[in-house]
Amino acid sequence: MTKELYPRERLGRVQEEAARAGLGALFLTPGPDLRYVTGYDALPLERLTCLVVPAEGEAFMVVPRLELPAARESPAGGLGVELVPWDETDDPFALVAGRLPGGLAKVGVADRMWAVMALRFRAALPGAEQVAAGRVLSGLRMRKSAAEIAALREAGAAIDRVHARVPGFLKAGRTEREVGRDIADAIIAEGHAAVDFVIVGSGPNGASPHAELSDRVIGAGEPVVVDIGGTMPSGYCSDSTRDYCVGEPPADYLAYYEVLKEAQQASCDAVRPGATPEAVDAAGREVIAAAGYGEYFIHRTGHGIGLETHEEPYIVAGNTEPLEAGMAFSIEPGIYPGPHGARIEDIVVCTADGHERMNRTGRGLVVVG
Ligand code: ZN
Ligand code: ZN
Ligand code: ZN
Repeated sequence: MTKELYPRERLGRVQEEAARAGLGALFLTPGPDLRYVTGYDALPLERLTCLVVPAEGEAFMVVPRLELPAARESPAGGLGVELVPWDETDDPFALVAGRLPGGLAKVGVADRMWAVMALRFRAALPGAEQVAAGRVLSGLRMRKSAAEIAALREAGAAIDRVHARVPGFLKAGRTEREVGRDIADAIIAEGHAAVDFVIVGSGPNGASPHAELSDRVIGAGEPVVVDIGGTMPSGYCSDSTRDYCVGEPPADYLAYYEVLKEAQQASCDAVRPGATPEAVDAAGREVIAAAGYGEYFIHRTGHGIGLETHEEPYIVAGNTEPLEAGMAFSIEPGIYPGPHGARIEDIVVCTADGHERMNRTGRGLVVVG
């Protein structure tokens, strides 16, 4: 599983991309880019761990000596990459600079590298312009392999099992936080390694797309937006939104909920190789606007997903880079008129002739209690 997810040949492709972008080297500190290239889920620490991928020559990874056993045991240890330990009194930035050819004009630093480390690299390589490495890697990361799509499918099934349990947690008289705690436990129990976020937006809080869990008591007859996600042991993420109502839903809510369902379907149906993200966004937005709710759909339709919950491609007006088979992203239109709101979110993968949903639970309103 790990080998297919994090194949050995990926490092060579990353090296090619770095050379193509005119970068003398890439510096990848712990984070999604390092994990993508090596499978190593390293802890971000104040001591430098950094995979150095030169445009020419062998990649190597500097690691604090006390992290050496963890690095060796990680998938990175099996890649044949030289591990270069450094001791407490060493300067690992000088160590990296000393192993690279002199006169590098441009280097890529991981998007999530700590600023203090980027500044130390700048001092160690004063002649090298620093650019974000993410744009070099995003082309690769956007185009998922069959193993990555299988991992997303597994993540989708896990979060679907959590949604299936949500009706058991939602009751009038409980607070959002109490329900959220049960959901977080279920996210782990259903196979995730970490809980990334839990949104339980009841009543008016449902009209705020990124509402934080609160101590608000959920009342009878209130719609509740539940948007949840986590990271699987594979490293791949889940993200799905479903809508619930504790008791009889308000009539005005039911009216726009049907529109939203139709819009979500329209955007999914617009997904195919060659379609632009902005066309996918427009397909759902037009349905919502035609029904008179256009002003209440206040965010983009979706975001890419993989080793990060939010990554490229973004499904938004202005993004005209055509979709390709293997790209994975959310389709999550919402309508937020108040005093309640709704959003329906599935992760979909662009296939050779359309789309495949990673989330399979019904998209109808779930009435509980
Ligand atoms: Zn969001
Ligand atoms: Zn999302
Ligand atoms: Zn979400």
